[in-house]
Amino acid sequence: MTVFARILRGDIPTVPVYQDDLVYAFDDVNPVAPVHVLIIPRQEIVGLNQVEPSHEAMLGRLLLAARAVAEKKGIAEGGYRCVINTGADGGQSVFHLHLHVIGGRSMSWPPG
Ligand code: AMP
Repeated sequence: MTVFARILRGDIPTVPVYQDDLVYAFDDVNPVAPVHVLIIPRQEIVGLNQVEPSHEAMLGRLLLAARAVAEKKGIAEGGYRCVINTGADGGQSVFHLHLHVIGGRSMSWPPG
């Protein structure tokens, strides 16, 4: 079981930043910016390589939740970055699909 599955079960306490029937959002424990929120599907899906057409509503909800998180955290106007790390080269370390919402400072490009 991944750490995010344990968060969804309530085994690891987190404060919800946003939640609905399909997704759950909480602060990253190791933030890389003043705002760093993770949005995860309630369904256990390893990553982007495992998504299917049946996940379409959840995938759309991840982005709608990102907007809600950005507004709640006060970074919508200033701007922010959404990231889905996928697999080894993508830097994925937790194998439960998640969208990073990162903001509160200026971002550089390209990412490392
Ligand atoms: P990734 O490297 O894209 O798989 O991102 C995994 C993220 O999960 C990292 O930014 C970690 O800091 C974060 N993380 C790991 N464990 C926890 C936890 N218990 N609570 C909140 N965030 C976590």
